[in-house]
Amino acid sequence: SDTTPRQRGIAIPQGISKQRFFEAIEELKKELGSENVELNDKELKEGWYMEHPNTHDMMPILDSEELVASALVYPGSTEEVVKIVRWANKFKVPIFPISMGRNLGYGGAAPRVRGSVTIDLGRRMNKILNIDPDDYTCLVEPGVSYYALYEELQKRGYQHMWIDTPDLGGGSVLGNAVDRGVGYTPYGDHWACHSGLEVVLPTGEVVRAGMGALPGNNTWQSFPYGFGPYSDGIFSQSNYGIVTKLGMTLMPNPGGYESFMYTFQNESDLAPLIEIIRPLRISNILENVAQLRHALQTVAIKGKPRSTYWTGEGVMPQEVYHKELKKMPVGDCEWVYYGMSYGPPHIRKYKLDIIHQEFTKIPGAKRIDPSTLPADEYFWSRDKIAAGIPDLEELLWVNWMPNGSHIAFSPVSPIRGKDAEALYALAKKRHTEAGIDLMPAFCVGLREMHLIVEIVFDSKNEKMRRAADKCLRDMIDDAAALGYGEYRTHLVLMDQVAGTYNWNDNALMRFNEKMKDALDPNGILAPGRCGIWPARYRGRGWEM
Ligand code: ADP
Repeated sequence: SDTTPRQRGIAIPQGISKQRFFEAIEELKKELGSENVELNDKELKEGWYMEHPNTHDMMPILDSEELVASALVYPGSTEEVVKIVRWANKFKVPIFPISMGRNLGYGGAAPRVRGSVTIDLGRRMNKILNIDPDDYTCLVEPGVSYYALYEELQKRGYQHMWIDTPDLGGGSVLGNAVDRGVGYTPYGDHWACHSGLEVVLPTGEVVRAGMGALPGNNTWQSFPYGFGPYSDGIFSQSNYGIVTKLGMTLMPNPGGYESFMYTFQNESDLAPLIEIIRPLRISNILENVAQLRHALQTVAIKGKPRSTYWTGEGVMPQEVYHKELKKMPVGDCEWVYYGMSYGPPHIRKYKLDIIHQEFTKIPGAKRIDPSTLPADEYFWSRDKIAAGIPDLEELLWVNWMPNGSHIAFSPVSPIRGKDAEALYALAKKRHTEAGIDLMPAFCVGLREMHLIVEIVFDSKNEKMRRAADKCLRDMIDDAAALGYGEYRTHLVLMDQVAGTYNWNDNALMRFNEKMKDALDPNGILAPGRCGIWPARYRGRGWEM
């Protein structure tokens, strides 16, 4: 079945009576039009990535009714967002903004506090407000997806500009940037590539950050800082405001591109390879946010369930996936590197020759000739993404499990062999204990790397959900004990992750809380997001 019956009834937020809540909803309907306010009182629909529910986390790691909204509201403009915020303050109802809610693996569309009213900004606020073909910038509303932006550039004949897309192109350009997501062109650090925000504060004032504060200014999307404190930062991974407009810089078409792929034979090649990658990446010979993936993912991305290959207890043994890899065009290996070189052929050749010389210092390293790869090989999906063309093939590994869901462990470290090894070892240890297949991918930025470990689990199997949850919590603690922290996390892990950033007696969290209380005195906006609880909730047992 594709719906989950409700056991617990409509999720009325704590601190308000059911009757008062329904009165409040009636008032909101009067303000916004009843067609733009919906109670979440029906069965929970499951859907899939492109038709995802906005009512809850469709990949629940807890009980599926834990992280659910009480109602949904669809503003059509910044003014309507202001109305919603004023309404929330009047009734002291928690609100939770999402752009499109495709934040799968980190909570999807779900609010952190059960019964929050979800503000689905993207449904109606989905305009590309500007694309500047001379400055290579754009200004978008929350509902603009990577697909929509890409298609609009093509439609207008702007082939001289590229966008940057993450692994899956259906998400919000704005939502991903404010959650500090990454993509795979040289413009892969989305937050670093933004310029200009418009934000509705929790008390209803509207601010424009950067140059947008100067009326009539034409530099909002070109110079990110403006004058005075750089306030943009506090609106990413926070609960201090609702972002209604975002400026992004666009990449110039490099005049040619070429993907490449190398395979490495041994688990122990990881550390020496990362040592080789670091100087090449910092000096931009390796130009994009490239991926070094474990070969088990190459098997998983074929989209067949794990049970096709192995039905035994515990993690899939090495010999099993090696046997599969031997049958595939990629061939047998333990690690796969996907990269892209940009520019005209002679420029690419210069860089690719250096890369080849360096990578083949690892015994057994092989360059896979792309011309030998069939059109449905995953390589070509990475090729599109590294060229800023949105794609969805990455969804396929979710089929690894029945009712396939995923949740990520995402620590960051410098690009060092010993850090890669330490993180890989702790992930492997905890996955083995939990009986979960380990599929790590190192995404290498300019001076750091994100290790992304997606745990694929069966969301209808409570034992497996518990095992996944424990595995994640253990990895977060193990990583913190060694001095590593996560760059982003799922809603249910936010308190734990925030708690690891505790230098000097939690000085940073105390600072965040002070700011929260000043900006949001009624504590209505996304309480608990990123571990930041407003005074009204703090110390009352909300943390998990
Ligand atoms: P995507 O569809 O790109 O995955 P989401 O809408 O799920 O993006 O955004 C990811 C997270 O970032 C959300 O869960 C929400 O907490 C936060 N967020 C998204 N959009 C906004 C916004 N416009 N203002 C404030 N926070 C936002």
